[in-house]
Amino acid sequence: MPFNYDPTNIFARILRGEIPNKTVYENDHALAFHDIAPQAPVHILVIPKGPYMSLDHFAIEASPEEQVGFMQAVAEVCKIAGVEDGFRAIANTRAHGVQEVPHLHLHILGGRVLGRMLP
Ligand code: 5GP
Repeated sequence: MPFNYDPTNIFARILRGEIPNKTVYENDHALAFHDIAPQAPVHILVIPKGPYMSLDHFAIEASPEEQVGFMQAVAEVCKIAGVEDGFRAIANTRAHGVQEVPHLHLHILGGRVLGRMLP
């Protein structure tokens, strides 16, 4: 399927420095920052720096270096957030996934028991 990235989305604007964020971790290929409306004591978003709309877009088109950099950011965020007791990683995708921001973001949620995955 074609992936048409919209460079005006809010996370693209964060990456360009047009909107502030509370950065948790950053490397050459990824940025992690606190969600503006946290749903749990730990709620961090990990995003690639490249123009990818979704997890499948990233998995299909991102370079090996981008993919490794993204996963290294996930590892560092988990260490920094101290989620040894567990966490949930969510990548809401397109309409059925109720994705609001069309730039891949992995939610890292933790800090309490999160309940069942779906209601
Ligand atoms: P989605 O529903 O697309 O998976 O999640 C989008 C997430 O982005 C939401 O949890 C929302 O709170 C967060 N968000 C939206 N705008 C901003 C923003 O400007 N800054 C930050 N840090 N988070 C945002």
